[in-house]
Amino acid sequence: MRSSGEDGAKPAQRSSRRAASFERVLDLLLPQRCLGCGAGGAVLCAGCLDGLPRLVAPFCARCGAPTAWPVRRCRECAGRRLAFVSAHAAVAYEGAVRGVVAGWKERGLRRLVTLAADLVSEAVPRPEVAVLCFVPPDGDRSLRRGHHPAERLARELGRRWELPVEPLVRRARPVARQRGLPLAERRRNVAGAFVAAGRAPASVAVVDDVYTSGATAASAASALRKAGARRVEVVTFARAIR
Ligand SMILES: [Zn+2]
Ligand SMILES: [Zn+2]
Repeated sequence: MRSSGEDGAKPAQRSSRRAASFERVLDLLLPQRCLGCGAGGAVLCAGCLDGLPRLVAPFCARCGAPTAWPVRRCRECAGRRLAFVSAHAAVAYEGAVRGVVAGWKERGLRRLVTLAADLVSEAVPRPEVAVLCFVPPDGDRSLRRGHHPAERLARELGRRWELPVEPLVRRARPVARQRGLPLAERRRNVAGAFVAAGRAPASVAVVDDVYTSGATAASAASALRKAGARRVEVVTFARAIR
């Protein structure tokens, strides 16, 4: 399977690429304010970058929750059927990280994706997989924004880890917004939401921006497993901490 290259782009990809380069120009021209503290000068000042809530071991080996000591399963994931073997994230989804994710998702600030990829590749071990893929965009929202954050992060990580990036997962149906839904509903909301785009490679890592309940990652992993993947890892920039 080919990932979308420079040539052979569909019109929708070209227009989203145009939108992305327009954003990049704006990104360079507009005066920057730190997303953490509002100070002028940089999209994230040195102090706020230093202060990002990085996740440090020990973790739950399965879902990546920070724990008091290393465990194979934790309170958060015990008893849950998870189609992935491990989930890793660089930072906690709190404080300035929320601003970083919003700036990158809602405003398409490109340099934040680079920053996120730097933080992930520093904190997260290179996945033991053959291919990276990403949680696919919800059609309407990604078209409106003209870019797709999880794919951008996957591509940045693919460069750093020297792993190919392929669109292996598709949405089986539109999914209501996860934000604001209680845990049980999040799981119901995304169950069966994804299908593999074809036969999946034996080992894959799914990249997404934020791991909240794990429901989205588990659903995408499950689609890959059904399509033949034996090992699915999950990598996200941020992780909600409960
Ligand atoms: Zn700051
Ligand atoms: Zn766990």
